[in-house]
Amino acid sequence: MRGFLIKAAARHSIFIMGFFALMMIRCSSPEAPKQVPKASIKQNPFDVIADTAVAIDSWADRVVEEILPEGWVDLAHLEPRIIMDIRYATKDNFVETKLYQCARCLLRTEVAEALVQAQHRLETRGLGLKMFDCYRPGPVQQTLWNTLPDARYVTNPARGSMHNRGAAVDLTLVDSLGQELDMGTGFDYFGNRAYHTFRELDETILHNRRQLMKEMHRAGFRHIRTEWWHYAYEKESYELSDYLWPCP
Ligand SMILES: [Zn+2]
Repeated sequence: MRGFLIKAAARHSIFIMGFFALMMIRCSSPEAPKQVPKASIKQNPFDVIADTAVAIDSWADRVVEEILPEGWVDLAHLEPRIIMDIRYATKDNFVETKLYQCARCLLRTEVAEALVQAQHRLETRGLGLKMFDCYRPGPVQQTLWNTLPDARYVTNPARGSMHNRGAAVDLTLVDSLGQELDMGTGFDYFGNRAYHTFRELDETILHNRRQLMKEMHRAGFRHIRTEWWHYAYEKESYELSDYLWPCP
């Protein structure tokens, strides 16, 4: 609901209209929240995010505490010891462009709770998790697809990625000092060397990948063949989302 309202305010670019829409819907409207039209996915995500930011700046004057849409949580709030390195909030990613206005690791509640359990189990062995990406808004998926329209690596936004549903994560393991374990390639390395089926690697690398996979499987996630860092939660199914989170 809140995500929808934020986008509604952004579309109209007039905060006061969004505010009154909020009051009307919260108080009495029986109508379901309108979905963002599919056509908007074709928009440049920078436009969407910039428009949203304008609305959120205004919104922030009235709303002191951010409330995420129901059923979503911020993993960093749930377990601050999990390290965040959200690459699409920086230029350090394969499109070399900052796609998120600010770094957040939003996930469906069950997905985040499963990761926290994994983190706690890993900590008993002197290890931990480091997140590269979590929930990814639909418009950003479109940009990634435009850059790399190859289904081995990026899901076609028409179908929707598990990231767009808040149910997939890109992550690695760190040691007790927060240093990444050697996985053989960096995040978003698109090539055979990142495949689980690629075996021509040092035993240490294969062991590290196995450790991550074992723990993620135990937590209820499944792997994909082509990316050692990608895991999707398989115990639930969720709707696609275009929600854009507010930034400070
Ligand atoms: Zn992924």
